[in-house]
Amino acid sequence: MAGMGVDLLAGLDDGQRAAVEAPSGPVCVLAGAGTGKTRTITHRIAHLVATDRHTASEILAVTFTTRAAGEMRLRLRALGVPSIQARTFHSAALRQLRYFWPRSVGGQLWPLVEHKMRLVTLAARRVGNHDRAPGASLTDTAMLRDLASEIEWAKGSLIAPGDYVAAVAKARRDTPTAAETVAKVFDAYEQGKRQAEQLDFDDLLLHTSAILEDDDAVAREFRSRYRCFVVDEYQDVTPLQQRLLDAWLGERDQLTVVGDANQTIYSFAGASPRYLLQFTDRFPNAEVVRLQRDYRSTPQVVTLANRIMAGAQGEASRLRLTLQAVLPDGPPATFTEYPDEPTEARAVAEQIAGWVGAGHPVSEIAVLYRINAQAEAYEQALTKAGVPYVVRGGERFFARAEVRAAIGALRTAAGRQSDGDRGGDPDGDGDAAGSTDLVPTVRALLAPQGLSAEPPPAGALRERWDALLLLVGMAEELAAAATTGGAPATLPAFVAELERRAEEQHAPTAEGVTLASLHAAKGLEWDAVCLVGLADGTLPIQHAESADEIEEERRLFYVGVTRARRRLTLSWALSRTEHGRRSRRRSRFLTGLAPESPRAARTAPAARCRICGGRLQEPAEQKAGRCASCPTTADPGLVEALRAWRKERSTAASVPAFVVFSDATLLAIAERRPTDA
Ligand code: ATP
Ligand code: MG
Repeated sequence: MAGMGVDLLAGLDDGQRAAVEAPSGPVCVLAGAGTGKTRTITHRIAHLVATDRHTASEILAVTFTTRAAGEMRLRLRALGVPSIQARTFHSAALRQLRYFWPRSVGGQLWPLVEHKMRLVTLAARRVGNHDRAPGASLTDTAMLRDLASEIEWAKGSLIAPGDYVAAVAKARRDTPTAAETVAKVFDAYEQGKRQAEQLDFDDLLLHTSAILEDDDAVAREFRSRYRCFVVDEYQDVTPLQQRLLDAWLGERDQLTVVGDANQTIYSFAGASPRYLLQFTDRFPNAEVVRLQRDYRSTPQVVTLANRIMAGAQGEASRLRLTLQAVLPDGPPATFTEYPDEPTEARAVAEQIAGWVGAGHPVSEIAVLYRINAQAEAYEQALTKAGVPYVVRGGERFFARAEVRAAIGALRTAAGRQSDGDRGGDPDGDGDAAGSTDLVPTVRALLAPQGLSAEPPPAGALRERWDALLLLVGMAEELAAAATTGGAPATLPAFVAELERRAEEQHAPTAEGVTLASLHAAKGLEWDAVCLVGLADGTLPIQHAESADEIEEERRLFYVGVTRARRRLTLSWALSRTEHGRRSRRRSRFLTGLAPESPRAARTAPAARCRICGGRLQEPAEQKAGRCASCPTTADPGLVEALRAWRKERSTAASVPAFVVFSDATLLAIAERRPTDA
């Protein structure tokens, strides 16, 4: 039985347990960040299966990012239910549409739009030519981006091109003439896409809902297969996603939702917390659970989060859920002002290098920023500091041309191999050979695609190389799993795994410090979080003007702060470029949180931890010369002496490499623990 051997109720508080054990009807968990909402729904799913209320295959769990879906699958696997479908709305819809489209529409499913901006540009050009609008060009890049996001908002809000002008007038979003132009571009975009027989992401949801609404046979089949739905991050559901959810449910009510109205951060795409807040109007018999205990973060982080939301206005603030900290004290959050952004990036990277040197795992550290363009400075600074990193949410891994070409080559080779297998194997060791040889085989097949033995210098070539190396990493994972009793690591099995992951948009993960936008960080957590670029104009972002837009920026700030378990640094810069004009101010959201005059912190040389290089705040820390959260009991003086000795040895040409031990070994020696070295 699923969940066997795991006590699914142990380690839950009363509220969480009530949600887990609630009957299989509507359940709504309304709670703040870090209170265990995601943990509660994964336990609920496992419990529904363990108590035979639902089979694993009839449950569909949806969440908002592919990373969050992947983490949910991992948590479910750990609870003994590996076969639950945990997907994003888009990947669930894509999978269903692939299956139903040939029957309901006919032919193969249309492919996804590859270059959305190109389609928007063509549409804008067509409208621009027709209107011969002088002055402001419809095809200027910023304008095109605005048009694309306006189309996304309209589609997410279930507004058709013909209804757009009336809808924005009602929402008071725009001037009438601008709205008319957007409506024309939107219409031209939809037509162009239809002519090209392509679908954008929103079309996946639109078509799936429409088929389920209109085709009784399909709806019956779907509803006999899926009988229970679970939605994480429900505060960010769009009317379009809600329509799909309704089409899935039909007249049924086996729906569990969890969310935090204070974390609504996708209003620009049409998302609204009203479905969460009005859940009981729709399902009066719903079991409603509120959670308040924050199990993720130290009291220092929790206090900051509560203070940020205390200033909130608007719909979400009606709920005002104050978080209660339950974890022991940690280091205080730090606030630092820098003269310019490159200096900020370098200082943050050095701080991180210090933590890593002191033994903090890289995968437990994140740098979070408002817009993806901020990533580059941190990529450079971390590279210089010798710290590995992974960028999240920037590009879609499986959509990259080199990745698609590489999978194509692997598929062809896998086809040849399985033909060979069918033709018989006189040595009788085909499978075993396939298993042990998978990684070198994949490397050899990817070499002509650009996977040279040595990394090429920085630039586009290097990006291609990195992407191909991630594919090799996935082959290594499969080979490692095979040795511990998983499926045999053959090339066809690897290609099948790649195709499954591509469908789920489940990109491979390398070990490294996470660089992510605040939007991509939702639902995730790290031991240490560096929130960077907290300047007015970046957070809140320049184009946030209305009170509602500013409130959404505040919620983004709250999301960022609440990602940290223990260490949290907040920083900003007064100028964009080195020696540039100091035209920027720290974020208005910091008023009342950060010391009013952080100048001292900026000019006086900060006391640093002698082990990890972290900034020392508490007098006791400064006296000891080390911070409270360094994961070692070693004497800082001894650590410094060992580092100096290592440095001297490692640069001496006559010293063999094995003498150059790692930081982990160094700390073990300093703590007088036994080591492998
Ligand atoms: P977010 O709003 O950011 O998505 P969340 O409410 O979904 O947060 P979780 O991610 O489920 O919170 O939990 C936060 C952390 O607290 C996780 O590390 C989780 O394992 C831990 N946690 C949750 N509930 C408990 C509990 N009852 N006892 C101990 N740890 C818990
Ligand atoms: Mg969560």
